[in-house]
Amino acid sequence: MTHLSHTPLTLDDIRAASEVLRGVADATPLVPSPYLEAQFGHPFWLKLENMQPIGAFKLRGALNAVANLPEGTAGVTCCSTGNHGRGVAYAAAERGIRAVVCMSELVPQAKVDGIRALGAEVRIIGRSQDDAQAESHRLVEEEGLAEISPFDDPFVIAGQGTIGLEMLEARPEIETLLVPLSGGGLAAGVALAAKALKPSIRVIGISMDRGAAMYESLRAGHPVEVEEYASLADSLGGGIGMQNRFSYSMCRDLLDDVVLVSEAEIYRAMQTLYYEDRMVAEGGCVVGIAALQAGKLTLTGPTATIITGRNLDMSVFTRIVSGQDVTLGDITVKGMPYGA
Ligand SMILES: *Cc1c(COP(=O)(O)O)cnc(C)c1O
Repeated sequence: MTHLSHTPLTLDDIRAASEVLRGVADATPLVPSPYLEAQFGHPFWLKLENMQPIGAFKLRGALNAVANLPEGTAGVTCCSTGNHGRGVAYAAAERGIRAVVCMSELVPQAKVDGIRALGAEVRIIGRSQDDAQAESHRLVEEEGLAEISPFDDPFVIAGQGTIGLEMLEARPEIETLLVPLSGGGLAAGVALAAKALKPSIRVIGISMDRGAAMYESLRAGHPVEVEEYASLADSLGGGIGMQNRFSYSMCRDLLDDVVLVSEAEIYRAMQTLYYEDRMVAEGGCVVGIAALQAGKLTLTGPTATIITGRNLDMSVFTRIVSGQDVTLGDITVKGMPYGA
């Protein structure tokens, strides 16, 4: 059900974000996939957010949030070691302000180095994500930094929404948008833009089937906590926050459906995107393709999905494209050669 009038943001907020991003994080290519069109029987486009300067779309939201900080804010902080941390680091450097990314001692050195290389200070605190979170709160209280949420912030949501604006402006014939779904900032923003421009469009969120926090929250009718599992779609892990203020209600009001996919389905879709479209993309990007390959969705016309990022462990990726088993935490995804 669409309730555009109830959302805390409007298309104007997304248009304003477009101005902020211009020349820095906008205008990624929207390319056709002849293979997926032939497979699924409808024109199929890929929005290449893996081409962003940080290798993922989160730069859009981070830039818009940083640009809209209250006057006199001393800098920004967050405790993401993934694409949000990279986005915040890059956005702060772009604007010439201080960024501190808090993380625990357990974070791999490659991730620490990656965030540092983008110009952020890295603060290594304690042995858990909770310790890192506490340090980030301390920086807010004692040093006047602003913490930027990866998904539950109106400026972040508006920034991610510019992707939907660009897609519908380039291809107004799109009837279905398949959006990878975790905390829901991306899906909320994209669905708002798309439905404001084309009320009849269908926007479907897709998550992995273990630890799908937004899916479980929508089912329960309020934010719920879920257990976290290792996944090939690691960018889609994590909770939506029990005090969620924006992304939960927007996903509830704007998404037409949420579909879940298994690790084996993600594995196969990563192979497909690599061999057919020659793309190196995170597991979190291919969940829409995975749902279609698994017969979990029916298309009605021109369709598009967002290739959200490329920041993945290449040793895992090369195992996948060569058909080997992949062990992640407590699970092993059984290998299979492409096309088998
Ligand atoms: C953050 C992220 C997502 C999910 O975005 P949400 O706004 O949290 O739903 C999807 N793909 C990648 C690569 C991401 O980094």
